[in-house]
Amino acid sequence: MKKSAISRMRDIQHFGEEGAVVPAIDVGATSTFMNPEDMDKTFTGELQGCYLYSRHSNPTVNIFGKKMAAMEGSEAAVGLASGMAAISLAVQQTLINENGSHVVSSQTVYGGTYALFKNVFPKIGFRVSFVNTLNLDEVEQAITPQTKVLYAETLSNPLLNLTNIKKLADLAKKYQLKLIIDNTFAPLIIFPIEHGADVVIHSCTKYISGSSDLIAGAICGTSDFINTLIDVNHGLLMLNGSIMDPKIAHELYLRLDHLEPRMKAHSEMALYLAKKMKEAGLKVIYPGLKDYPQYDLFESIFDKSIGHGGLVTLELKNADEAKKMAQKLQDNIFGLYAVSLGFSRTLMSCSAKSTSSEIPKDEQEKMGLSEGLLRLSIGYTGDKDQMWERFKRSL
Ligand SMILES: *Cc1c(COP(=O)(O)O)cnc(C)c1O
Repeated sequence: MKKSAISRMRDIQHFGEEGAVVPAIDVGATSTFMNPEDMDKTFTGELQGCYLYSRHSNPTVNIFGKKMAAMEGSEAAVGLASGMAAISLAVQQTLINENGSHVVSSQTVYGGTYALFKNVFPKIGFRVSFVNTLNLDEVEQAITPQTKVLYAETLSNPLLNLTNIKKLADLAKKYQLKLIIDNTFAPLIIFPIEHGADVVIHSCTKYISGSSDLIAGAICGTSDFINTLIDVNHGLLMLNGSIMDPKIAHELYLRLDHLEPRMKAHSEMALYLAKKMKEAGLKVIYPGLKDYPQYDLFESIFDKSIGHGGLVTLELKNADEAKKMAQKLQDNIFGLYAVSLGFSRTLMSCSAKSTSSEIPKDEQEKMGLSEGLLRLSIGYTGDKDQMWERFKRSL
């Protein structure tokens, strides 16, 4: 029987040195070799699996990687200093490995990803075509012989468009591209590898952390790909140096154990509130609502034991209305006006002028992102009815 992500993760168990139920943090920046020959061989690549130097590999970062890989169902994974480091290195390593220079990317991606692709990549010799990934013809037409990467987010930020990963994976196979999916919005809910993605990215700053107290990222993929990233001579992660700190890896290793109940709690609260908002006549987008544009696709792929996730968007008349509403919600202690997501408390932001402000206004309009969009990352603290009372008071 196929194992679920939860049971795969539960099988990863590491103990502390004196039998503690949790592993110790291995903070060593460098590791002893028992003989000089092995050190030489490690540098030439003849010998694999030795701990050398913590920018290359570290026992605590490795066990975090094992648990992330168990979650996403990939062969391997590695922790990085941030989600942006993960995106930047996974895409560039693929382009370099495969002698390519072109990416076909979804037009609705995280603002930082958009800025990297649009403003930085062309200056270092890479080109990116932005397409509407919901339109497969448009995706296929953008592919050129230089294209090596197909890039999208499972649920796009902030529009919550659901990517048809299976269909994109078919195209990736046909043209021998690497399909890289940012799954930050949907851990344990949708599993991109199952649908044919080659690489999965996480900003662990969000749900994986859950406490908005650190910045971290992860790349999940084949062992070959992860090993390439840390290759002493050619690996971009090894050479760019944005590896995860072992102390952060230890934190996240432990927090992955309660990602499941947290995701369930986010989902339960978000569904409850989204339904109430709908009943109150608001324009609300949430994958758990019947009028969500890709409701059937979502229903056919998501993990029903968890739910539809914690992100809800509200479409208000204009930027002023959205800001006024957000101010009232904050005054009534419904949520905090802050960027980011995945925190135990509700976070709210007007995306057009904040986390998507890197995207020019005409592009925003093209993708359907309006200035009145208020993104809510629904928290799970507090009583459902009390939260709804606070929301209602803010209308
Ligand atoms: C936050 C975020 C990122 C960037 O992650 P950092 O950890 O802030 O570097 C990338 N993708 C998505 C979807 C995000 O929400």
